[in-house]
Amino acid sequence: MRVVLLGPPGAGKGTQAQFIAGRLAVPAISTGDIFRANVSGQTELGLKAKVFMDAGDLVPDEVTVAMVKDRLAEPDAKAGFLLDGFPRTIAQAEQLAESLADLGHGLDRVLELVVEEEELVRRLSGRRMLVDGQMVQRDDDKPETVRHRLEVYREQTAPLSGFYERVGLLSQIEAIGSVEEVTARALRALGVDPEDPDTSAAPADA
Ligand code: AMP
Repeated sequence: MRVVLLGPPGAGKGTQAQFIAGRLAVPAISTGDIFRANVSGQTELGLKAKVFMDAGDLVPDEVTVAMVKDRLAEPDAKAGFLLDGFPRTIAQAEQLAESLADLGHGLDRVLELVVEEEELVRRLSGRRMLVDGQMVQRDDDKPETVRHRLEVYREQTAPLSGFYERVGLLSQIEAIGSVEEVTARALRALGVDPEDPDTSAAPADA
């Protein structure tokens, strides 16, 4: 199954991506994680991306799209994937559709995690991640950067909701409540029974 997970910063995409992808037995591919790994490793890609990430801006499409194409060409993504944090612009979505079409594929579903903005700000300002055994705040989770990331989301990424709705791929998922409840809603939208570990993950485009 080929799935995109959309949603604003703080909606819980990373956490849900792990659970949903685990249940579908496909890799969860997070562009944010790939960028952060490259920043830590001080690669050329990381150095390019860091300036944009620190400012809460999007990394330019050409850099991001090339990176995702490479990742999707790896063997573990051949039979399916769950993309977390990509696409984030209409141009990225169009290029993803083209790359998949070249391979004779398409997306099965796009899940949009929906959370009110007030709740997002609350979650992001309290968010910490584990780095070298210590809980630290991501540089881009600082309050002023958070506000800018939400603006960038509204302007550049939110239009993807309508884009995917028009092609009949969108399922909106209310992303409040426990992690398990949200995962169960997402799985149902994919036609997978959350209670039954043996349900095959059939495309839910009916
Ligand atoms: P995330 O972990 O998904 O919140 O991503 C962290 C940061 O990485 C974003 O604020 C962007 O600077 C960059 N990033 C991640 N995914 C993309 C993307 N699809 N397009 C452009 N920039 C991205």
